[in-house]
Amino acid sequence: MKVVLIPGDGIGKEISESVKEVSKVLKTNIEWKTHFAGAEYYEKTGKLFDDAMMDAIQTTGIALKGPTATPIGTGFRSINVQLRQKFSTYANLRPVHSIEGVKSRFEDVDLVIVRENSEDLYKGIEYMYDANTAHGIKLITKDASERIARFAFEYAKKHHRKKVTAVHKANIMKVCDGLFLDAFNKVAEEYPEIEHDSVIIDALCMKLVVDPTKYDVLVTENLYGDIISDLCAGLVGGLGFAPSANIGEDVVIYEAVHGSAPDIAGLDKANPTALLLSFSMLLKDHNMSDKAEILEKAIYQVVKEGKYTTEDIGGHAGCKAFTDEIVKVIENEIN
Ligand code: NAD
Repeated sequence: MKVVLIPGDGIGKEISESVKEVSKVLKTNIEWKTHFAGAEYYEKTGKLFDDAMMDAIQTTGIALKGPTATPIGTGFRSINVQLRQKFSTYANLRPVHSIEGVKSRFEDVDLVIVRENSEDLYKGIEYMYDANTAHGIKLITKDASERIARFAFEYAKKHHRKKVTAVHKANIMKVCDGLFLDAFNKVAEEYPEIEHDSVIIDALCMKLVVDPTKYDVLVTENLYGDIISDLCAGLVGGLGFAPSANIGEDVVIYEAVHGSAPDIAGLDKANPTALLLSFSMLLKDHNMSDKAEILEKAIYQVVKEGKYTTEDIGGHAGCKAFTDEIVKVIENEIN
């Protein structure tokens, strides 16, 4: 199976190496097609991504992507936004769950964020109205709102989740968020077996930090989804543990929620878990759940033992040593 690998910027190269190593030891038969994108590639070539990258993603339909930075002041749009729009990866799925051995205020978080990925303020419609006034358009459509609500309910049905909660600010943005909420409530009627409710974004933030276990599947617009994803990552030990998948009809792009972490790039300090868990999502979606299970079990074992964990969770090991330990556990399991 061919999969496009985009290491990206900063820690992207280190964490992509971890994925390649575990893929090899798991004997996945994945053939990586590496392509380059990001600010570092731009500095070398004047291009944001290599010429063949988009075609390769179109052909394979699957990509695993490291974090990419957008060069500032060049007028380029974010690579992530370009990818999401080109391949209509309208749903961004972000599972969040507690991992034993990782210090956090909660032990039993298990929720999923379904973020609408194609519109809202991230559509990029912004301009200077006059020298002192910037306009940004919040674009919300009935079709995209219904599509993401249906995705969330279908996900809940398939994964035996009990409740879907719409996150919004319809009390203030009555037109845009009102439309989103109406679409959600309409779609909810098609799924009487799944509970549904809604919550205002600011109230949700407070409730999440008090007791995140009250939530199951959260479905929301692009900007709110972006923000609550980082908040939720913080509930389970930080960005090093937050995987995601950008899902469209024909293409899925798996990536960690975190960025390129320039402060630790090249220092062998990155925690590769988020990209490894994104890779695990890829394996599960392609009939390799057995391998995904072995991988996740190995990650959790190494994290729980705590001897080879990275600094972000209080450990002293590097990305490489942490990966080597995971590889050893996998080898023991499958040999
Ligand atoms: P960031 O996620 O890169 O870093 C925030 C903090 O978390 C830093 O202290 C960093 O060291 C730490 N961190 C992040 N991932 C880590 C990991 N795997 N292991 C250990 N520590 C980790 O956020 P930022 O600093 O706001 O962004 C840096 C760059 O990344 C920016 O250019 C931004 O645009 C880009 N970015 C890209 C993506 C993406 O491509 N999906 C997502 C977010 C940010």
